[in-house]
Amino acid sequence: MNEYKDIWVFAEQREQRLMNVSLEILGEARKLADKKGVKACAVLVGYGVKGLADELIKYGADVVYVIDNPLLKNYTTEGYAKVIADLVNELKPEVILYGATYIGRDLAPRIASRLHTGLTADCTGLDIDENGLLLQIRPAFGGNLIATIICPERRPQMATVRPGVMKKAPKDGKRKGEIIEIQANIKEGDIRTQIFDIIKEAKSKVNIEEADIIVSGGRGVGGAEGFKLIQQLADALGGVVGASRAAVDAGWISSDHQVGQTGKTVRPKLYIACGISGAIQHIAGMGNAKTIVAINKNPDAPIFKVADYGIVGDLFKVIPALIEEIKRI
Ligand code: FAD
Repeated sequence: MNEYKDIWVFAEQREQRLMNVSLEILGEARKLADKKGVKACAVLVGYGVKGLADELIKYGADVVYVIDNPLLKNYTTEGYAKVIADLVNELKPEVILYGATYIGRDLAPRIASRLHTGLTADCTGLDIDENGLLLQIRPAFGGNLIATIICPERRPQMATVRPGVMKKAPKDGKRKGEIIEIQANIKEGDIRTQIFDIIKEAKSKVNIEEADIIVSGGRGVGGAEGFKLIQQLADALGGVVGASRAAVDAGWISSDHQVGQTGKTVRPKLYIACGISGAIQHIAGMGNAKTIVAINKNPDAPIFKVADYGIVGDLFKVIPALIEEIKRI
């Protein structure tokens, strides 16, 4: 087991753009690697992606392994799992971290299975214990407790990490690191999936995870019609619309707006919760916002416990007044 060392991050890219979550995890890997006295390494897989290696170094990687091959242009479970598992068998990292994205959630279990190791999904925290083991922290039992999970006997220790819960390290243009190109041992027959076409998400889909301002609506909004008011406030502030699960489950707004434990984790500068009670599962997704404003007609609503500013009142009166005031400024 001693032969395993270093902390790796799967540097996820799409169309040659690094995903934010990979840089967030790299920031955390940097801290963990310093604590253990090992290297933080990034694994970059794709085609025509070598140019991204420098960026990873600036965000904290000591070493970037680049696996660049035309067969890896588009993500396929088999292709990516094979080349990464081969590299792991050769270089033996002690820890591998992935973003809990659609790709990370698909890839990590497949690699875990190939390597006969464990995997903790959807971590919201990571640490190293006194024995050097990776502490993998995540909500459990419907968010009612926080579990710390370890993988004592298998290597590498692997986890997927929720987007938005960790902070990128500040970009350091002067950082130096090593870029190592790896020849992928892969041929067409290794990938049974054929990709004929990639249909992109409709432009209207929101990316609430990267927004600076989010105005969220909950059951108190009363229906799809009520979300038009939420949208108007978001537009007035240059923000996007979020939602509680109650509003999504009711079919008032699509699930890509959902904030919380089973939705997205967000870290905006301003989060305005309108008609949202503040259940623990909702707070799990927005509690790290810089400034939280709550509008709720119930003065005892739990959301006021995490809010920096609270407005007790009917959102249908408060929001139009706010919009009017914002437009006046
Ligand atoms: P409610 O709790 O019904 O609150 C509505 C609020 O609106 C009340 O506080 C009320 O006072 C206020 N209100 C009503 N009318 C007005 C008005 N006119 N003006 C102002 N205020 C008004 N929830 C999430 O949000 N995200 C998740 O990811 C999530 N994941 C979950 C995962 C699990 C495993 C479980 C068990 C639950 C999860 N939930 C999640 C659900 C969560 O427990 C709550 O049920 C949900 O967040 C409640 O949504 P809400 O606050 O909109 O509705």
